[in-house]
Amino acid sequence: MTTLIIKFGGTSVGTTKALRQVACIVLQEDPKWDHLAIVVSALSGVTDDLIRCTQAAVAGDEQSYHSIVAGLRARHHAVVHALAFANDERTQLLRSVDEYMDGLAALCRSVHVLGEVTARATDAITSLGERISARIVAALLRQHGVRSQAVDATEVIVTDAKFQNAAPLMEETRARVQERLVPLLDAGFVPVVTGFIAATQNGVTTTLGRGGSDYTAAIVGDCLDADEIWIWTDVDGVMTADPRLVPDARVIPVLSYSEVSELAYFGAKVLHPKTILLTVQRGIPVWVKNTFNPTYPGTCILRDPNSSSATIKAVTAIEGLSMVTIEGRGMLGVPGIAARTFSAVASQGASVLMISQASSEQSICFVIPTATVSPVIRAIEEEMALELVRRDVDRVWSMDDVVIVTAVGAGMRNTPGIAARIFGALGRASINVIAVAQGSSECSVSLVVDAEASAEAVRRIHEEVILDGEGGQRSTGDP
Ligand code: ASP
Ligand code: MG
Repeated sequence: MTTLIIKFGGTSVGTTKALRQVACIVLQEDPKWDHLAIVVSALSGVTDDLIRCTQAAVAGDEQSYHSIVAGLRARHHAVVHALAFANDERTQLLRSVDEYMDGLAALCRSVHVLGEVTARATDAITSLGERISARIVAALLRQHGVRSQAVDATEVIVTDAKFQNAAPLMEETRARVQERLVPLLDAGFVPVVTGFIAATQNGVTTTLGRGGSDYTAAIVGDCLDADEIWIWTDVDGVMTADPRLVPDARVIPVLSYSEVSELAYFGAKVLHPKTILLTVQRGIPVWVKNTFNPTYPGTCILRDPNSSSATIKAVTAIEGLSMVTIEGRGMLGVPGIAARTFSAVASQGASVLMISQASSEQSICFVIPTATVSPVIRAIEEEMALELVRRDVDRVWSMDDVVIVTAVGAGMRNTPGIAARIFGALGRASINVIAVAQGSSECSVSLVVDAEASAEAVRRIHEEVILDGEGGQRSTGDP
């Protein structure tokens, strides 16, 4: 039994041209697999529009939300018309679009009246994009002779009630997949499942967080024991760097799960981070492919790739960060300072991206998003009030406008001299490194640099350890 899950992202279903490409891809794969299930995102930009719509309603801007609803209705109608469906299929689709858009208008009206929106209502609203796209794609496949049916993931994926960022309850979900999807698959249908959305045990709609359709594919793949998961997007694969920063960035042919997790953590928008969490357990290979360049192999993400020639595979940068330092000569040898510092940080809900402590123990520094700096500093000062009075801790301060530049690659583990080359390259470019951390997994090295130097730092590191170390294949498709 062979099973493939294909996920199409927003740009892959965003235009009629892209949708025709989707049909070609499915037609080509369908005969090759015993079971094929599709997961779709909303048409590109639709989720953003739905969020803007909600915000306009909260703000009491009736005119704006009405015009967004009208725009969304028109866009979906246009796609349905352009795809030249048979009469009854078209009528049915247009009716669905209208029902969802009427529902949207009604929800926005309530939000407008209340002047506020709950996370739960937000999920009800943002779920609409995928509900429509799944219906369009399923109809499109039927038009091409594929037996297909749209399936709302609210019937299949059961989550907790953490709206906007719900977590799947895998046991319940597995049972639902058996009940709802397996019979369809066994009967030769290609189900088109809505990405991103799910429901609580009581059937209340939830979402898995922005970009969550990848995660949906992983959840469905896990429950169906998939052999492979293909994520179709609008780039040739995972790149060695952001091509806007580094014009000669390339596609990485093979990545390990740990490398891709590290990349996601350090700011590369590759896959929804939780996607890998699931696939890693079962070792399901994940391919990232380009809908607009379908013959290009893309990037394959595996549990244990055979060691490849590349040591460093990618360089990323995360912006909008600040470095907080807590320093004092009296901290030396005093146990518990770090624990108390970080519980104070956690009490403010700030997530720490990087930590470093010099072994002289006279300072601890860590990097957090700038937006969380003031409450974090206040919380630490409160926690350390006594130490501050005693001058054991001299001060707690922050440096804003810093960036974490991270070089990722599991090959670093066995290759001495990588850090030296990175520092050398930055030194030659007169880029000052403010702090350094290497995870003991030795899968990445992170450097804190001034925001102004960030793009140049990424380029220099890319040039030094990726182009020279030979990281990837040149991408050929138009992005
Ligand atoms: N449509 C959702 C979003 O834009 C989910 C996804 O595309 O993965 O975040
Ligand atoms: Mg996406």
